[in-house]
Amino acid sequence: MLHRNYQIEGIVQGVGFRPFIYQIAKKHNLKGFVLNNSTGVEISIEGTKEHIKAFENDLKLKLPPLARIDFLNKKDKALENFQDFKIIKSEHKDTKYSLISPDFAMCPECYKEMFDKNNRRYQYFFTNCTNCGPRYSIVNTVPYDRPNTSMNEFNMCEECLAEYENPDDRRYHAQPISCPKCGPQLFLKKMNGEVLATNNEAIDLLATLIKQGHIVCLKGMGGFHLICDAKNEKTISTLREKKKRPTKPFAIMFKDIQAIEEICQLSVEEREKICSNQRPIVLVKKDNKQFNLSLLIAPNIDRLGVFLAYTPLHVLLLEKLQMPIIATSANHSGEPIITNEKDLKDKLGHIVEFYLDYNRQILNASDDSVMQVLGGKELIMRASRGVTPISYRYETATNQKILAIGAHQKNAIALYINNQIILSPYIGDLDNISTVDFFKKTLENFKRFYDFEPDVIVGDKHPLYETTHWAKKQGKPFFQVQHHFAHIAATMFEHKLDEDVLGIAWDGTGYGDDGSIWGGEFFVANKTTYKRVLSFEPFSLLGGDASIKDIRRIPLSMILDIKEPSNHDFIFSLFTHTELNLLKQIHTKQINSPKCSAVGRLFDAVAVICGICDKVTYDGESGLLLENLYDKNIKETYNFFIKEDLIRYKHTIKDMIEDKEPRVIASKFINTLVKIIEEVSTMYRLKVLVSGGVFQNRTLLEKLILSIPKLYFQNKTPINDGGIALGQLTNYLALNSDKKVFLNNE
Ligand code: ZN
Ligand code: ZN
Ligand code: FE
Repeated sequence: MLHRNYQIEGIVQGVGFRPFIYQIAKKHNLKGFVLNNSTGVEISIEGTKEHIKAFENDLKLKLPPLARIDFLNKKDKALENFQDFKIIKSEHKDTKYSLISPDFAMCPECYKEMFDKNNRRYQYFFTNCTNCGPRYSIVNTVPYDRPNTSMNEFNMCEECLAEYENPDDRRYHAQPISCPKCGPQLFLKKMNGEVLATNNEAIDLLATLIKQGHIVCLKGMGGFHLICDAKNEKTISTLREKKKRPTKPFAIMFKDIQAIEEICQLSVEEREKICSNQRPIVLVKKDNKQFNLSLLIAPNIDRLGVFLAYTPLHVLLLEKLQMPIIATSANHSGEPIITNEKDLKDKLGHIVEFYLDYNRQILNASDDSVMQVLGGKELIMRASRGVTPISYRYETATNQKILAIGAHQKNAIALYINNQIILSPYIGDLDNISTVDFFKKTLENFKRFYDFEPDVIVGDKHPLYETTHWAKKQGKPFFQVQHHFAHIAATMFEHKLDEDVLGIAWDGTGYGDDGSIWGGEFFVANKTTYKRVLSFEPFSLLGGDASIKDIRRIPLSMILDIKEPSNHDFIFSLFTHTELNLLKQIHTKQINSPKCSAVGRLFDAVAVICGICDKVTYDGESGLLLENLYDKNIKETYNFFIKEDLIRYKHTIKDMIEDKEPRVIASKFINTLVKIIEEVSTMYRLKVLVSGGVFQNRTLLEKLILSIPKLYFQNKTPINDGGIALGQLTNYLALNSDKKVFLNNE
């Protein structure tokens, strides 16, 4: 007989881990206990050596679907002669490290029950179990027990309690369980608060309103959705007008995968991702012949953001509707997703007449995650519901608590505590007070979850970022990491690389070490430091930020830089006389015209030359439009060349204008970018890493995957600025826990 004790860390709370332990302990005739503690789970078992071995084998191979073991410490102890195997109630300690799981989509078993007339949860809109349902959105603090969630207001009925207490039940210790008798209620309301219907009748009436062409709101898992019929042109154009969102694509929610496949071409991997328990929005290719939804959904692009109903409430609504719907985060343009009635009335009262609410609070907001799948790998554009908070075990010598505050756009924060790195859900662009408040609230939440108080703050080098101002007011050591290096550091972290690499970071903007705007970077880098070995020839952003929206100014600025400009007429013709004269003066005198070398802006310039876009209304628009024009039969490139550590391209604007045909220009341009990376890669015998918003461009990245033998890019963490906090954090850790020689020792 042996007594063996285990300390386990990872995602082991609220995921059916203890009942699983209970079951395998019983199966192998072991006595002892399992309990949740502040760091994870503790197990003690007594039995024969063989039985313990069999137990350990099951522990390794048969984990419940949502569980993950990051760390396991075992030791043998003196026999205590346990009489049976028990699940012991949670232990509370001062320090709290146990990890919080993201929210997950409804599981197949719950789905079956919800459509089973004989089940007591037939048509029940909050059906969930240990393997599915809300987590992050309802948790107030750890440990993840019902009193620490927003389900604390609802007392379980006898039947629910029996399930909750039965270790053999799928709902054993599933914190948010309820049933029609004891759970939260639905209310369909008019904007003035008048209740029109409740519970299942509310879903029916909501469906009717959508069919009639109304724009409605529905409280989902991590916030409200704005919803309307995906075929109703009139409603969609009203929505675009009222939301001041002229062209940015809307995501479409479907009832089932068959409905998606009727109008989109899916790869096996895309299909799997769409159906996974994360249920993200996946950008897939429209089947133009079959596409029968409104063209206003994603104007002029061949991609469509699709996802499946993921909560029982969404499932019931779509079952009623039998047609796809636009389901977009309910918010005021650019602001965080709305989670409560009051904000809904204040901010969307002018758009929406009806909303479906329920009386369980969303404590932590999360948006829908957004991904693409390419070459069988994920490309994460927004990590939120179903994906984050995500944690990584990362052992270092430091016992500091570290907070990384990310970038300005697509902000997310990351923490380091007790050998864990935790990435928060997507927060947003910190351009307005609401999003800055959301940043602060997210931080407060994580502080509360983990009793976290940072010793050090790590952020971007940009002197004017909101995060920089904030960090400087905290009275803590503040360490700043260059933006594009943070992109590469995040990629190195994800691929566990600890060597010199060729890091290529291309995006729309980021503060460079020389004070100019970078974003076309080639670094030789390692975990601790970097050297900028090559970049794009800079141009002036005429009028600063004005150029970022009014992108006509970008090719104008470039053509004015060329000594003997010929055939500039086309570019000039895009402006009025007055505009042109003013901009020429701005260019000559370089008034408010910061230098910029970002590849993202090059895409803007090319989109203007193609004549397909002169104002950008959402991030990444020009890239998507150019991709739409890409013709794989065109193999030519433009004649970029490298001189004095700079990639020279301005002279090719003339060639682009001469080419005239948008399809030709766009294809040659993307081919050129691939060729540049190919050529530079051969100059360095190093692993090639790419990161930054530009690589969300599917055409570009797919071509690179084919032409660079071993290309590293992020597929578990966001490839855009959503991954910056991870790079900042891991760079700080590398510098402070293992002392390495600096590459460019300054
Ligand atoms: Zn379930
Ligand atoms: Zn109940
Ligand atoms: Fe960036």
